[in-house]
Amino acid sequence: MDAPANPAHGIFERFLRAGECREVLGCFEELCRELGLQGRGLQLYHGLKAALNYWSAKALWSKLDKKAGHKDYDQGTACASTKCLVVGAGPCGLRVAIELALLGAHVVLLEKRDSFSRNNVLHLWPFTIHDLRALGAKKFYGHFCTGTLDHISIRQLQLILLKVALLLGVEVHINVQFNGLIPPEGKAGGQGWCALLQPSSSPLSHYEFDVLISAGGGKFVPEGFKRKEMRGKLAIGITTNFINRHSRAEVEVAEISGVARIYNQKFFQNLYNKTGIDLENIVYYKDDTHYFVMTAKKQSLLKKGVILQDKADIESLLSPENVDRDALLSYAKEAANFSTNYRLPQLEFALNHRGLPDVDMFDFTCMTRSENAALVREHNGARLLLGLVGDCLVEPFWPLGTGVARGFLAAFDAAWMVRRWAAGTPPLEVLAERESIYQHLSQTSPDNTNKNISQYSIDPATRYPNINLKAIKANQVQDLYLVGTVEVDHKRKSDNRLSTGRTYEDLLSWCQASTAGYRGVEVNDFTTSWTSGLALCALIHRFRPDLVHFESVDPQDPIQTHQMMLDVAEQELGIQPVLSSIEMATMAEPDRLGLITYLSQFYEAFKTSSE
Ligand code: FAD
Repeated sequence: MDAPANPAHGIFERFLRAGECREVLGCFEELCRELGLQGRGLQLYHGLKAALNYWSAKALWSKLDKKAGHKDYDQGTACASTKCLVVGAGPCGLRVAIELALLGAHVVLLEKRDSFSRNNVLHLWPFTIHDLRALGAKKFYGHFCTGTLDHISIRQLQLILLKVALLLGVEVHINVQFNGLIPPEGKAGGQGWCALLQPSSSPLSHYEFDVLISAGGGKFVPEGFKRKEMRGKLAIGITTNFINRHSRAEVEVAEISGVARIYNQKFFQNLYNKTGIDLENIVYYKDDTHYFVMTAKKQSLLKKGVILQDKADIESLLSPENVDRDALLSYAKEAANFSTNYRLPQLEFALNHRGLPDVDMFDFTCMTRSENAALVREHNGARLLLGLVGDCLVEPFWPLGTGVARGFLAAFDAAWMVRRWAAGTPPLEVLAERESIYQHLSQTSPDNTNKNISQYSIDPATRYPNINLKAIKANQVQDLYLVGTVEVDHKRKSDNRLSTGRTYEDLLSWCQASTAGYRGVEVNDFTTSWTSGLALCALIHRFRPDLVHFESVDPQDPIQTHQMMLDVAEQELGIQPVLSSIEMATMAEPDRLGLITYLSQFYEAFKTSSE
C-alpha cells in the first residue's frame, strides 16, 4: 500500500496496526497532537472523524457510527452528565468503557500495568464475534475470526478494545493503581467521590466521579461486595503456549475445541497408556501461538513428578516450592504433542512477560463470584453507584472459556444500569433491576440467550429471553444502599485492599490507636500530625519494636527521621515509599492523598496484629 500523503493518515495507520499497549497510546497521542485535537468523549470522536476523512478511515467510522446510532445511546446524550471511573483494562473493563462512552458519559479508565502480555486464548461465543466485528475488529486485527475461528488471544482482544475506546474518547491511564475510594468531605473539601491511587501524584486523584465500575479481574473486588465461593471437585488447570511459525505443517493440524473425558474416553485412555498423563479435558487453539488448556488429574501430576508432595490444602499443593517446573514443562509439551498426533513440528515454548516458557498451573477447585453485582454508597449527600463486571463479578472456568462472553454480557448489563441511573431512576430500583438481571448470568450459554445476535444491545431484553426485570424488588436490596460510615468486615478473605470511605475513616482511627501514648505524637489528620516523623516512628515501633529505637529519634531533624523510616519500611516490610522524606516533613495539603496511600500499606501489613 502507498504511504499516505497526509502525515496524520500515516500516524492513524500506525495506530490501527500497533501491537503493544504503550505503542497504541503513543500513536494516539501523536495523532491528536498532529490534528490539534483536544477534549474527550464523543466530541473527540467527531473531531477525529472530521479530520480523517480518507477511504480507509471512513470504513471504520461508518461501522462506529452505525453502532453509536443505536437508540439506547440517545445520540450520545443518555449519560452526558455522568462521570465514570472504570478500573482495569482487561477485556471487560475496556468493553464497558466503550459502552459508557457511547452513552455520552465522561469515562476515565485506569490500569495498573503498562503492557498486555497474556497469550492465552479466549473462546468467543457467536454474539461476541458479531459484537467485535461491529466495533471494527477486523480493521485493527486482520486475522480476527477468519474462517471458522471463534477465539482470540487475550492480548489481541485488549488491543482491539483499547483502540476503539480511545477513538470514542475514553481517557486511558496506564501504570495507575486504584487502591480505594475517598468519600466527599462536604462543604470544606471535595464535593464528590475520588479515588485513592498509586501513584498519588496522578492528576486523576482529583477526578470526582459518580459511577465506579470495577473490572479488575478475579483478584480485585472493591470493598463492600461479599464473595461467595463455589467449591467443585479438585480441578488443576494447565495452560501453555508454543510459538506459532504459521508453517504449512502447522496450518494443517486441526484444533481441538474442547474434548472432555466423558465424550472421548478412548482418547484419554490412550494418552494415559502411552504417556502416563491423565486429563479430564483438553482444548487446543491456534492463534498468535499454539495454545493448550487442560485439566490434569492430581495423581498423574504426582506420578510424573510435576507435583512433588501430596498435600491436602490446594494452595500448598500448587505452591512454587512443591512444583517441579521442568517436569511441568515436559508434561504440558507431551500432552500437546499427543493430542495433536505429534504433527506440530518442533514445539517450542512461547515466552511469557517474564521471559520464561509460557506454562502455568492454576487451581479451579474453588472459584468465587460476587453475591451482588452493584451497590450504592452515599456520603455527605453525594451518591456513588458501584458495579462489577468480568472476572471480579464471576470467575470463569477457563477450559470452558466462558469468561469473556459472560464478561461482555455483564458489561452491557452494567452500562444499562448506568443509563437507568443517569435517567434519574430511584437508586433502589436501579439496584433491584441490576440484581434481577445478574441472577441469569451464570446460567447463560449460546443456546439459552436470544438467537438474534444482530439485535443485541445494552438493553437486557434483547439478549435474555423472557427476562423479568422486576424479579427482585427494591425492598430486597436495601442493604446494598450504604449510607455514611459502615462497619467493615476486615476478616473478609479477599480483603487485601485499602478501600472505601469507611476504611478511610477507619485508617485515621487505627493510626490514632496505634500511636497513642508515644511521646510528642498526636494524630488528628493526614497532614501536619505526621511532619515531625515521630508519628511514623511510633507506628512502626508499635508493631515492630525491633526495627526502631523510638527513644533515640531526633525530633529536630524530621527529614532525616523520615528518610530512616522510609528506608526501614521499604527494606524490612516491603512498603514502597509514596512521598519523599522532604514531602513527608513538610506535608502540604496536596500530599494528603499520598500519605493516605502510604499509611494504608501499613494498615494492610499490620491490621491482623492489631485485631
Ligand atoms: P482481566 O482480564 O483479569 O483484567 C483485569 C485488569 O485489571 C488487569 O489488566 C489488571 O492489571 C487490572 N487491575 C487489577 N486490579 C487493578 C487495580 N487495583 N487498579 C488498576 N488496574 C487493576 N480465560 C480463559 O478462558 N482461558 C485462559 O487460558 C485464561 N488465561 C488467563 C490467564 C491469566 C494470567 C489471567 C489473569 C486470566 C486468564 N483467563 C483465561 C481469564 C480471562 O482472561 C478473563 O476471563 C477475561 O480476560 C475477562 O477478564 P476481565 O476483563 O474481567 O479481567
